[in-house]
Amino acid sequence: MIPVIEPLKPGSTIGILGGGQLGRMLALAAADLGFDVHICEPEADCPAGRVSAKVTTAPWDDLAALSQFARGVEAVTFEFENVPAASLAHIAALVPIRPGIKSLELTQDRWVEKQFIQSLGLVTASCAPISCMNDLHEASSQLGPNGILKTRRFGYDGKGQIAINAQSDLAHIWEGSIGQDWIFEGLVDFACEVSLTLARSADGEIAAFDLTQNTHRNGILRSSFVPAQVSLDLSQQALLQATQIAQALGHIGVLAVEFFVTRAGALIVNEIAPRVHNSAHWTQDGCNSSQFVQHMRAVAGWPLGDPTRHAGHVQMTNLIGADADAWPSYVSEAGTFIHLYGKREVRAGRKMGHVNQVKSHL
Ligand code: ATP
Ligand code: MG
Repeated sequence: MIPVIEPLKPGSTIGILGGGQLGRMLALAAADLGFDVHICEPEADCPAGRVSAKVTTAPWDDLAALSQFARGVEAVTFEFENVPAASLAHIAALVPIRPGIKSLELTQDRWVEKQFIQSLGLVTASCAPISCMNDLHEASSQLGPNGILKTRRFGYDGKGQIAINAQSDLAHIWEGSIGQDWIFEGLVDFACEVSLTLARSADGEIAAFDLTQNTHRNGILRSSFVPAQVSLDLSQQALLQATQIAQALGHIGVLAVEFFVTRAGALIVNEIAPRVHNSAHWTQDGCNSSQFVQHMRAVAGWPLGDPTRHAGHVQMTNLIGADADAWPSYVSEAGTFIHLYGKREVRAGRKMGHVNQVKSHL
């Protein structure tokens, strides 16, 4: 059992598992607080590594490299939830991991996550685990016909998802799906999507950002804005539900909960991200403390910062693929803050950066 760590002193080194854009923005926030960051990531020349003090480039199953990494840092956090459980256990034996392993175990598998959410008395889309053709037939007749077949693990940005409807050839779909575990989700006819991002400190203090409204394009988050166009009552319910989830996980750090808002005005939990989240990037330019600062404070065992929004309206827009070519127009726009991730290659569907447009002040 790892003892509770004392608050880390400035000058300490924090390890981050994963070297993408979330790791990069976490590293920049850590630097502001006086910490050094050591990134551990399988791919060379990663976006986070280029702004960090140290990088370990090693595959997740290289336990010798993970040991060396863990011995050189005072605490470890992660920027994505798909680090293999065995690697995490190996690191956790050497150094505190924040948030804890429970947050990862319950969110790496969509079916396990859905059951956890339901066990808290919260509502999810109707769903069933699928491991054979018969399961798929039964699920589509009982929960469908309209639904989405999603891989239980490793999905992100809408990847690993297949839309199902009454005309779908289930046998053909299943033929191309063998070899993975899946979950079938009934299609939710939602009015809008919102997310609630909060930070929870090592002593259980919670600081939440304003509820955010999200729009997606081709399964990828396109834009997020505050304030969300929903009732105060619904915002308060979202806060209560996200708080309940964070407490049940004993989560330390930032956590985001994605919700569907039904046409009748009820909340359905879509998924939990046990980390900083794309839909809260607006906090960088719209709040006193951004989600990245909040996360590094929590990981360091510091008190949380102030999540208050200081702008009347903020819109975050992702720059996906060639969208990033428009950077010259954004850099000369008043009230627009551009954040580029330094990715070497533009690819269709790849998140290259985002802009925060602060439309009016309070
Ligand atoms: P991300 O990493 O961007 O959160 P993901 O790959 O984990 O995405 P989901 O959040 O499960 O995927 O789905 C992406 C989007 O697809 C949702 O935000 C929503 O717009 C749509 N979607 C997913 N599941 C359902 C559902 N059951 N009913 C209706 N729409 C859905
Ligand atoms: Mg999602």
